[in-house]
Amino acid sequence: MTNDTAKILEKLKKQEKEEGKLPLLLEFYKKLLQIQSRAQQRFGTPALALSHETIQKRLQNGRPLLRFNDLDLDWSLVQDVFAGVAAAFAGYPQLFGEIPEKLRKPEGGRLLTKKAAEAWFTGKELPRKIRDGVGENILQAMIQATLQPFLAGYARALIDSVEQESWRRRYCPICGGSPDLSFLEKEHGARWLVCSRCDSEWAFQRLQCPYCGNQDQKTLAFFTDDKELYRLYVCEQCKCYLKAVDLRKSEPEILLPLERFYTLDLDAQAREYGYGPYLKPVAGTEKKP
Ligand SMILES: [Zn+2]
Ligand SMILES: [Zn+2]
Repeated sequence: MTNDTAKILEKLKKQEKEEGKLPLLLEFYKKLLQIQSRAQQRFGTPALALSHETIQKRLQNGRPLLRFNDLDLDWSLVQDVFAGVAAAFAGYPQLFGEIPEKLRKPEGGRLLTKKAAEAWFTGKELPRKIRDGVGENILQAMIQATLQPFLAGYARALIDSVEQESWRRRYCPICGGSPDLSFLEKEHGARWLVCSRCDSEWAFQRLQCPYCGNQDQKTLAFFTDDKELYRLYVCEQCKCYLKAVDLRKSEPEILLPLERFYTLDLDAQAREYGYGPYLKPVAGTEKKP
């Protein structure tokens, strides 16, 4: 995952060259990636002093490794990135509607206060100052895009401490985010989830809904395309869906974050069947059986 951003940018540039122009959403995504890649470079590799004991204790208790207070961020950099991200969204009203002026102004970056970021990180209601007059989903997406390069930096530093076989929970072992994509790994076809916030990957049961925990096989299903490259997992209990890429069938150099955009047909299909995406950025703590 280290050089994913650079690789994705390269692939998009190649596609743009071949096709003359990128589809609008990918053009937007390319701009976003450029902002995120600059943020990543300025941020560098975070130093996080978590002792071996703390790591073990958090994981054993089912707690993600990163707490908000562990994040050591240069807030003026974060706010700069937020201003850039908001401008990128504002450049595509065809995709996102009109972005309110308070966010389009360069000083709009300051609306993403530490308090607002903490509320987002922990899944609480955002402060009124940033939330008022802005669509909830768009705002969530903007904050997510802003914090992604920072969280992904921490994720790279921490993911090797996670013992995959003993985690297997419905939320990310690094940041606690919920998954928005999955893949079946090459060797045995085991299912792995991908975090919607930091792009960490973790192993998860194939026959369980990662959103509501449902394990009743009669109410879980999946659809595949003709080439069986993609799967659409659906759950009758919570009516949510999850897309999956089958790496046993895909080309070797697949870039998962980009697959989110290459599989928009699947999202449309899921909606047609009456399923929706899971919209909470922070998955709930697992209920005790
Ligand atoms: Zn995460
Ligand atoms: Zn479910």
